[in-house]
Amino acid sequence: MRQILIFAALATGAFAQYPVDPGPRDPQIVAALKQVSPSRIRSTIEKLVSLQTRSTLSAQDPASIAAGHGIGAAREWIKSEFESYSRDCGGCLEVKTDTFTEGPADRIPRPTEITNVYAVLNGTDPENAKRVVLVTGHYDSRNSDTLDATAAAPGANDDGSGTAVSLECARVLSKLKFPATVIFLTVAGEEQGLNGSHHFAQMAKAAGWNIEAVLNNDIVGGDRSPQQDSSVVRVFSEGVPLAAGDADLRLIRNLGGENDSTSREVARYVAEVARTYDSGVKPMLVFRLDRYLRGGDHSAFNREGYPAVRFTEFREDYNHQHQNVRTENGVEYGDLTKFVNFDYIAAVARLNAATLASLASAPAPPAKVHLLTKELQNDSTLTWEPSPGGRATSYEVLWRATTSAEWEHTQSAGNATRITLPLSKDNVIFAVVAADKEGHRSLPVVPIPER
Ligand SMILES: [Zn+2]
Repeated sequence: MRQILIFAALATGAFAQYPVDPGPRDPQIVAALKQVSPSRIRSTIEKLVSLQTRSTLSAQDPASIAAGHGIGAAREWIKSEFESYSRDCGGCLEVKTDTFTEGPADRIPRPTEITNVYAVLNGTDPENAKRVVLVTGHYDSRNSDTLDATAAAPGANDDGSGTAVSLECARVLSKLKFPATVIFLTVAGEEQGLNGSHHFAQMAKAAGWNIEAVLNNDIVGGDRSPQQDSSVVRVFSEGVPLAAGDADLRLIRNLGGENDSTSREVARYVAEVARTYDSGVKPMLVFRLDRYLRGGDHSAFNREGYPAVRFTEFREDYNHQHQNVRTENGVEYGDLTKFVNFDYIAAVARLNAATLASLASAPAPPAKVHLLTKELQNDSTLTWEPSPGGRATSYEVLWRATTSAEWEHTQSAGNATRITLPLSKDNVIFAVVAADKEGHRSLPVVPIPER
């Protein structure tokens, strides 16, 4: 077994500081980001809003679809959009639907058919194509009454904006090829109880899909209130995983692992991507599952054990969400197109596209990453198995102080699968990353102790 011993580095201060070096830019990703179009995003949102309501309980019969009203019309339009992108790339997207009947339940008075619509850009490398990265938004909408199936529920921001991000990522990334698979998803039933995403995540789990990251965009419209900061998008990630069992919780408790869920590593990866590619918006990492009193589709994936984060604008205007369209005492209520900022949504779409493309280009993360804890020692030895799929040419160890939010230092291990560092494992948190020869980096994997 090859091993690297690094002691001189500490004396000379030769450890690279992370993220001072933003890492190499991939020219094909830079070019794809330039294709993201605020005016395409605008027409997507205008089209969705024109359907009057996309309540999950609204009409989906052929006559309503033909008339352009209700959730059925939304579903068919999204499907036709994905199909048109696929025609433009020589049939590179597989456009699919996932239909099921839900209820009756709390917010679903009678059994209701719910359909998720998605497009799959299959990976070009047979082994790596089994790895999936996924972007999602919900195309259903609501007004003041969750059970109102007919009155206007424009949902321009919530979540026309997230739907537009999934569609725009599909349009620009379908022109590229990646070793791993990218899925562009739009779900329904979010406002009735995350029904679409629950069904999709359970289907993925049952089929054994290896989803490395889910990016959920919900309310990324950049509402034009005066207090908005349109240079920032929040990225929420769970700490202690919803899917953690008793043994996981014991380990988290013993190691101080509550800040290193796989979802949080995805959030940190988004921050790294934002430093590498200029998207026009900066992520503000929020270390909690979601906002107070609110939930979202990422949690449905978290429940099945998948890493998933939520993107949401910096400041929400509650007069423009979950409200009947009306004016009262001079205040305008309703989730209308005029309140959203298409340039902002385009910036969020760029950050999503850059993250998806970086992950889909990268090798699989290293396997079985262990930190040796057989004896009391002031050095730290990490071991791992090569990244599955054969694309990794080198590995890097990252670490940070236990009190730090993001990775602070990096040390290359070359192509070795074992490294000893002159650092006490008691004082830092380590992770290992796989990289290919162009410098695409995998998600980091935090080691488990080996005794
Ligand atoms: Zn929403």
